[in-house]
Amino acid sequence: MKFSVLSDSLEKMESTTKRIELTDILVELLKNTHASIISKVIYLIQGKIRPNFEGVELGIAEKLVIRAISKSSGITTKKIEDDYNDGGDLGKTGANILRQKTQTTFTAETITLERVYDTLLKISKLEGKGSQDMKMKYISSLLNDATPIESKFILKILLGTLRLGIAENTTMDALAIAFTNEKSNRELVENAYNVSSDLGKVSEVLATEGINGILKFTTSLFSPIRPMLADRVKSEDDAFKKIKNDFAAEYKLDGERAQIHKKNNEIVLFSRSLENITRYYPDVVEKISKCINANDGIFEAEIVAVNENTGNFLPFQELMHRRRKYKLEQAVSDYPITVNFFDVLYYNQTDYLEKPYMERRKTLENIIKENNFAKLVPMSIVSNEGDVTESLENSINSGCEGLMLKVIDSPYRAGTRGNNWLKLKREYQNELGDSLDLVVVGAFFGRGRRTGKYGTLLLSSYNSESDTFPTICKVGTGFTDENLDQLFQILSSKVTLKKNPRVESTMEADIWFEPELVLEIVASEISLSPIHKTGLNMIRKDIGFALRFPKFTGKIRSEKSAEDASVDEEVLALYKNQKKSEMN
Ligand code: AMP
Repeated sequence: MKFSVLSDSLEKMESTTKRIELTDILVELLKNTHASIISKVIYLIQGKIRPNFEGVELGIAEKLVIRAISKSSGITTKKIEDDYNDGGDLGKTGANILRQKTQTTFTAETITLERVYDTLLKISKLEGKGSQDMKMKYISSLLNDATPIESKFILKILLGTLRLGIAENTTMDALAIAFTNEKSNRELVENAYNVSSDLGKVSEVLATEGINGILKFTTSLFSPIRPMLADRVKSEDDAFKKIKNDFAAEYKLDGERAQIHKKNNEIVLFSRSLENITRYYPDVVEKISKCINANDGIFEAEIVAVNENTGNFLPFQELMHRRRKYKLEQAVSDYPITVNFFDVLYYNQTDYLEKPYMERRKTLENIIKENNFAKLVPMSIVSNEGDVTESLENSINSGCEGLMLKVIDSPYRAGTRGNNWLKLKREYQNELGDSLDLVVVGAFFGRGRRTGKYGTLLLSSYNSESDTFPTICKVGTGFTDENLDQLFQILSSKVTLKKNPRVESTMEADIWFEPELVLEIVASEISLSPIHKTGLNMIRKDIGFALRFPKFTGKIRSEKSAEDASVDEEVLALYKNQKKSEMN
């Protein structure tokens, strides 16, 4: 297929933010795509080349792209950088520069989608000495044959800046319409996605085998399942309003969620965002098989750092010392962990997702052989508010964050957040009612003790509807010197020449970052703000929400991706809650 079929559709999608229009364009594109390459189209429109859990990253730096544009156009890197500084979008800048060149050349090969995809895949696999030059050559060879519009989108995909506002939900709607003529089949598409975490694969099966094909998607080993998520409650009373009967109260541990896949002695771990994290936990790979009395299974557990002498849980940040490329063995011995099981999703070649919570828990209790390394998350059945308070206190005294309250007869609802799991955290008793997970998008240079580091950070929530990061506050308190050093180091690798187009801000930061790093923040209040963009127009026209007296809790949420940050609706809910309690 000609790459221009895709790039023309992308161009149309770029000019609209309306979900219905986006869906229509996507349906049209999918209908015009041959089944054999449908998965490639699905990955590319999401700005990727493989499903997330395979960890295939393009990660091309702006500098390299500028060099490639220069090579293809004969225009100096300096001129390209200047244009980029004026224009704001390197994809567009590149296309404009290359347009000038195209006018003077005669022949160019038509480029196919297959060629672009295969080249991107090759680029992603290059590493080590000489790889930067090779990448540059590959990019430049594509640009030599691409039209300006094609170049723009190739560049955007390479840079990771293709933001069309096509959420996964829209893609699933379009798949259902394009291949089954029925939007109502979207639920079946979603079910297949929930157990495979691979929309490319779902689309390919749908295009070749139709609806019967996707009905065959089942839970399978080493293919991650989209995690079930919890809604929040702020008090025991609130919990009983949402769950009418007895329910299970489990400790909410403060660590990293791991989906553990086991087949005999083969172990693979996926994070909450379905990244393969096996390499960070060689001790789990080595020891966990002996603690699981089953040949195969998919389990969920919270991995928590512990004090080796006392066995006490340590805060989440301790665990993040393991997120390193080098000297991992040292980190494994310096930061010991326990694996705390709380669910089983597959066992003995049987899917457990539809089984009720209590049956899954009993199965887990039968399978897990507890020792110093592997444990079951403590659970008790609660039937009144007093029981919940007692459990909450016990959990907090053991160094946990609070409770996870689970409906006893509920199945495991992969990929959904709802009332079958509720989280009740200790912080809920503080002024705001909850902490927020916010994305660092920019910074202001520090003075005094903080000279040379970032003194104040600019933070954003996530707007899932528009796939953007609207700002919500600046934060400068709660940081220790160690935090400042650590953040400076992490953020230095995320600096961009200008504001990322997905960031919505009226403030001009001294420095901008790729919106990637998530921090946990508490605050005293949510106020209305003409400056910040979170929840814009939700309460009043042209007015958003801001946090008053925000403070960093010390927790860098490295396990969360920017899209897992608190969403505008959560901020709105907290704002309304606060209004209610002001009135009481
Ligand atoms: P939050 O990140 O605040 O939305 O809380 C949900 C997270 O709590 C999950 O993704 C898990 O990592 C973690 N967690 C800790 N203990 C449990 C538990 N007993 N059941 C489920 N999730 C848990």
